[in-house]
Amino acid sequence: MEALRYCPACGGRLVRRRPEGDDHYRLVCDACGRIHYENPKLVVGSVCLHGGRVLLCRRAIEPRRGRWTIPAGFLELGESPEEGAAREAFEEARARIRIEGLLAVYSVRRIGQVQLIYLSRLAAPEIGPGPESLEVALFDWPAIPWDELAFPTVHWALRRAKAIDGRDGPLVPGTNPGGCDPTPFPPGPEAA
Ligand code: ZN
Repeated sequence: MEALRYCPACGGRLVRRRPEGDDHYRLVCDACGRIHYENPKLVVGSVCLHGGRVLLCRRAIEPRRGRWTIPAGFLELGESPEEGAAREAFEEARARIRIEGLLAVYSVRRIGQVQLIYLSRLAAPEIGPGPESLEVALFDWPAIPWDELAFPTVHWALRRAKAIDGRDGPLVPGTNPGGCDPTPFPPGPEAA
């Protein structure tokens, strides 16, 4: 989320000011006058179910190395959110998934993210750790390591998936519980 310092177009110095007719302060190039808009980034991922169990990955990278997460990451240009969620499942857990629907849309204003989290199923039983995972595993709901999850939105998404797992009816996407940003997890012990 660190702001740009130099203009990507001309290399000029960027300053923060309010362009005429705009109600936001923007990064404006001192040299060429271009405005560089800053907008939230999209994170895509899924809670992937298989035979009543949930796919989780133990992170091999910072932040939160050693903690458990669902396969998720930044959407790439040229991808649909569903394609991005499927790509992340393969990259992080070598999992081929079938997207069932949108489970939740979470916003984390503090770090400028909107997260689209899908419900998915394994299309094939094979899973394995990709380069960003120390290990991957399927957990029964009671066995989920709730105290060792990487991010609060992972906690939210898993709780929501657990609440609707096995129920009939259309999948209605959830949003931030209480409408607030998640409270950041305190820094915890990392993997040895
Ligand atoms: Zn410029």
